[in-house]
Amino acid sequence: MPFENARARTMEDLLNLINGELRPAVKGHWMDVHRPATGEVLARLPKSTADDVELACVAAEAALPAWKAMGREGRSQVLLELARLIEADLEGFAQLESMDNGKPLSLARKVDIPRAVANFRFFATAIIHFSSEAHLMDDVAVNWTDRQPIGVVGCISPWNLPLYLFTWKIAPALAVGNCVVAKPSEITPCTAFRLSQLCAQAGMPPGVLNIVHGSGAEVGAAIVAHPRISAISFTGGTRTGAEIARVAAPMFKKLSLELGGKNPVLVFADCDLDEALDTTLRSSFTNQGQICLCGSRVLVQRAIYDQFRDRLVERVKRLRVGDPSDPSSDLGAVVSHDHMEKVLSYVKLAQEEGGRVLCGGERVRLDGALSKGWYIAPTVIEGLPEQCRTDQEEIFGPVISIAPFDEEADALTKANNTPYGLAAVIWTRDVQRAHRVARSLQAGIVWVNCWMVRDLRTPFGGVKQSGVGREGGVEALRFFTEAKNVCIKL
Ligand code: NAD
Repeated sequence: MPFENARARTMEDLLNLINGELRPAVKGHWMDVHRPATGEVLARLPKSTADDVELACVAAEAALPAWKAMGREGRSQVLLELARLIEADLEGFAQLESMDNGKPLSLARKVDIPRAVANFRFFATAIIHFSSEAHLMDDVAVNWTDRQPIGVVGCISPWNLPLYLFTWKIAPALAVGNCVVAKPSEITPCTAFRLSQLCAQAGMPPGVLNIVHGSGAEVGAAIVAHPRISAISFTGGTRTGAEIARVAAPMFKKLSLELGGKNPVLVFADCDLDEALDTTLRSSFTNQGQICLCGSRVLVQRAIYDQFRDRLVERVKRLRVGDPSDPSSDLGAVVSHDHMEKVLSYVKLAQEEGGRVLCGGERVRLDGALSKGWYIAPTVIEGLPEQCRTDQEEIFGPVISIAPFDEEADALTKANNTPYGLAAVIWTRDVQRAHRVARSLQAGIVWVNCWMVRDLRTPFGGVKQSGVGREGGVEALRFFTEAKNVCIKL
């Protein structure tokens, strides 16, 4: 099996999974995958085109009747077996995810791969309990809601939580009986490939899940534009989401768009300061700040501002940027050279806009084989003017801004003052304030006195430019099915 010994191997060829077969792109072209820790080439992936998407779509359509006929129990068994196989190989998956993405191996072991397992288990069992509604009209008629799979659906995912977000989409899509044409990010395709090697063993019929590797501009665009792919579940950048909507909306496709964020963290003076500091450190810099849910604008009530800022900066300076496979590294590498340049360009912009860099702000050069890796020192910026680009645009790296606020209303105005509305965090001991502020925040997800505590049953998604629709729990099962009302006269 490729990547059998992930530590020792550096160069591998990944393959598409189409109709149960692992195969290169039809045109035989390849593109490189890099290892962020060292900057070296890690693998090649098929540079697929619309031809490969067409093959995948034909295979998916052909597989629909058999997958549907397996019934929810049968499909559930396959997904549970897939979860078991990933879990049995957790270490191999975690090492590959860390190598491909640059994230600390400890994080991949603790979060990414366990969550991919949980995604399959959750939706494999959710489908067993998924019930349709009935509406009785007294003695006139009874309505019942028939929920059928859509058919062939497209799932497109980003690089920051590769297997975690890939499985978050394909698990519910498959559980309800769809067949899938999926595209992982071309920047981090390795664990999706490893997953594709397990599908047959899990008992998944050929064609049910097809994974087509390649660029967004070719493969992603071909999935979105394909006339027989009837729904698109997309997670990625807001600009890409807008392009997908432009193409898919006139084709009347069902669309779920999970997009960017610029999440505020509101720290009120009455909070548990130690806990707020500990968690803000995590919510700012976990995965090098490359989580859509990371808080990137820390707003602190003036009475505790200086104390909170000084203690936070002191803690940030102690964070270790290092080899992702070293358990003592708090931050690994950012995902690509281009992304590193983009993040650093925002630090420069922040300074031009009047911001002061309190710590970090530069590329970190490690020794030896890691000297060409893409590392950035965790960065805190203060003194930015309101409405500046640094505080309006998504940076998606280990860079946060910090600013004071006076009263609750001021905090809310500042928090809501971006085009985004994905997540927000509130730190306070005042329950009434927590409720009030949570209800007034323009965000799809609000955490009070915690961060990234996830119950997979809850609706997940954003407002404004952070997206359209919700994933998670019953929302995902509903998205991936078509509702039909059947009205029967009594
Ligand atoms: P991206 O938009 O560049 O790419 C995401 C995926 O879309 C990739 O697989 C890419 O190949 C594909 N793609 C690119 N162009 C396409 C096109 N024209 N048609 C179809 N597919 C196309 O995003 P990224 O850089 O991979 O990921 C980072 C972004 O994802 C950030 O903005 C982050 O906030 C966002 N994100 C959001 C969530 C969420 O749940 N809201 C979660 C994680 C990441």
